[in-house]
Amino acid sequence: MTAIPLTLTDEQRALRDGVADICKRYPGEYWRALDVKREYPEAFVNDLTTAGYLAALIPEQYGGAGLGVTEGALIMETIHANGGNAAACHAQMYIMGTLLRHGSEAQKKQYLPKIATGDLRLQAFGVTEPNSGSDTTKLQTTAVKKGDRYVVNGQKMFISRVLQSDLMLLLARTTPVDKVTHKTDGLSVFLVDIRGIKGLEVRPLRMMMNHSTNALFFDGMEIPADGLIGQEGKGFSYILDGMNVERILVASESIGDGRWFGERAVAYSSQRVLFGKPLGANQGVQFPIAKAHTAVEAAALMRNKAAALFDAGEPCGPEANMAKYLAAEAAWEAGNACIDCHGGYGYAEEYDIERKFRECRLYKTAPINNNLVLAYVGEHILRMPRSY
Ligand SMILES: Cc1cc2nc3c(=O)[nH]c(=O)nc-3n(C[C@H](O)[C@H](O)[C@H](O)COP(=O)(O)OP(=O)(O)OC[C@H]3O[C@@H](n4cnc5c(N)ncnc54)[C@H](O)[C@@H]3O)c2cc1C
Repeated sequence: MTAIPLTLTDEQRALRDGVADICKRYPGEYWRALDVKREYPEAFVNDLTTAGYLAALIPEQYGGAGLGVTEGALIMETIHANGGNAAACHAQMYIMGTLLRHGSEAQKKQYLPKIATGDLRLQAFGVTEPNSGSDTTKLQTTAVKKGDRYVVNGQKMFISRVLQSDLMLLLARTTPVDKVTHKTDGLSVFLVDIRGIKGLEVRPLRMMMNHSTNALFFDGMEIPADGLIGQEGKGFSYILDGMNVERILVASESIGDGRWFGERAVAYSSQRVLFGKPLGANQGVQFPIAKAHTAVEAAALMRNKAAALFDAGEPCGPEANMAKYLAAEAAWEAGNACIDCHGGYGYAEEYDIERKFRECRLYKTAPINNNLVLAYVGEHILRMPRSY
């Protein structure tokens, strides 16, 4: 029977402390300055890579640490709980799984060791499109085989870290939707070396938070046929396969955010005295903070369950989805409680709260919006009628 660990092992504590030590070198001022300029946290990501943390999930035979999702989650949570933003590099951990599970031995040997050392960055994941959004199977970008190459045409929207990556995982339609039995068939995944590639235009988008996000335009972009991962036409199921890890890691970032907001809220409302007593003694201030803390703890428990099941090789779709939902909502609740108890100071840049507030909001919408998580719970767990 799979057990949910309630405490960290000595190794996990050491892992957490090591990540926290790196985070201490990158305080609020660092993230704030980048946020204003919308610049990528190069130094932070390089430090994490050099220390091996971004290769945590890569098996040892390919130069990684061979750790589980439980440890990957701990790394993400620790970064966020220390005021940082792992969104700059989280995708590498979960995109890599597609290559690991479905790539050929030759592809794994070619890329994974270099990703582990940081010689190659695999941070970009191209799925979303302007005309399909959450309805992934309707995506319109095509990859047509011509000899030993595929020719890609179409558009992608909100694709992050393309300018900071060497490699991109791309989902495109290889068989027209009217020629497949199931709409989920006919989509293929490619590992594309985007360094200097022709036929790709990248237009950066200034977003609410610092996220290195872009609109992409493919105009006859040619990729070698050996960039195809697994079988042609099976890409959708490969992407779905990686979703549980993505959900668990993103939930962990939200849990870290929730903890950061909670700590700030408690510290501030305990020391600021108004009307002759600490702010936090007023239940109108205290209860929202206590409620948010309760929600963060509950989300962490569900995340731990999801990660434990995943690491034990058990199905964990329900738990991973519910953890993502609970954690994103809990972080948002904690963010609101934190801003509220800080009054006007919650809006001042130098407190970092408004930055974290903007950053944590994303996880209610992406990588999957919480409505679609609820649709999954309703339809797949509770067996209620399908809405789409
Ligand atoms: C900062 C940022 C970074 C991103 N990075 C990436 C990336 O690197 N790669 C990538 O592929 N994508 C990325 N995305 C895209 C992200 O995954 C999508 O924005 C998200 O999946 C929602 O798609 P959409 O924006 O087209 O919204 P839509 O699909 O148009 O949905 C809009 C809203 O409608 C609601 N909704 C939609 N369908 C339903 C339904 N059936 N039932 C109930 N409600 C529904 C939801 O609340 C949803 O938020 C990023 C987005 C952002 C904002």
